[in-house]
Amino acid sequence: MRNRFVIGNWKLNGGLAANAVLLDALKAKVLAAPGRYCGVCVPAPYLAQAQALLAGTSLGWGSQDVSRFETGAYTGDFSAGMVAEFGSKYAIVGHSERRSLFGDTDAVVAQKYDQVRKAGLTPVLCVGETLAEREAGETESVVGRQLKAVVDAHGVAVLSGAVLAYEPVWAIGTGKTATPEQAQQVHAYLRGLVAGWDQSVAKQLPIVYGGSVKKSNAAELFAMADIDGGLIGGASLVAEEFLAIWAAL
Ligand code: PEP
Repeated sequence: MRNRFVIGNWKLNGGLAANAVLLDALKAKVLAAPGRYCGVCVPAPYLAQAQALLAGTSLGWGSQDVSRFETGAYTGDFSAGMVAEFGSKYAIVGHSERRSLFGDTDAVVAQKYDQVRKAGLTPVLCVGETLAEREAGETESVVGRQLKAVVDAHGVAVLSGAVLAYEPVWAIGTGKTATPEQAQQVHAYLRGLVAGWDQSVAKQLPIVYGGSVKKSNAAELFAMADIDGGLIGGASLVAEEFLAIWAAL
């Protein structure tokens, strides 16, 4: 049995007062379940608040990015080690918004991934194609290239203990969700690709879907054979939506 995850990505949203309301609502309802994990990736300045409110609960927390460096003169960056100091469990790397808006290349994502692993955090590695790439029939080559960049740099063993997130760029924040069949096809492709490198890593690797998941579509997505949960943006900011998605896991 593979572990299953519902992880929220708050993006650039939140505030101390609103976070407290949301986290209190979540922690009251998210109960521990073997093999099922729920987490929130908050803006880095709120890691201390997440730790204070969530320590000892069934909710994990983490960051949405990390520096590709461990330490040094990199103004504005924060390291994976710093994220870990706040009791974090997760760090997202390779989110399409970091790739497209902040210039994270496959090579940079591979460096960040390595930092996350070395800090003892669970990497949540995002891959996904744009609409133009999908329409050009390039979905598999794009997501395969993005995943292979990490494996080429650090070996397939670094995927064990990680979470892979398939997030079609055209579905993120757009309200357009991939159909369960479309998502399953790509998840199966990704698992097959990993299996070609290492069967046992592929069997264990949780692959979650992200892209306009909401309470109305979560159950049908999560029912697919290779979809092991979700990475949730907008809907993770609304307690009732996020809890309903968690309940669908
Ligand atoms: C995301 O930011 O990873 C995401 C999937 O966003 P949304 O759920 O809002 O599409």
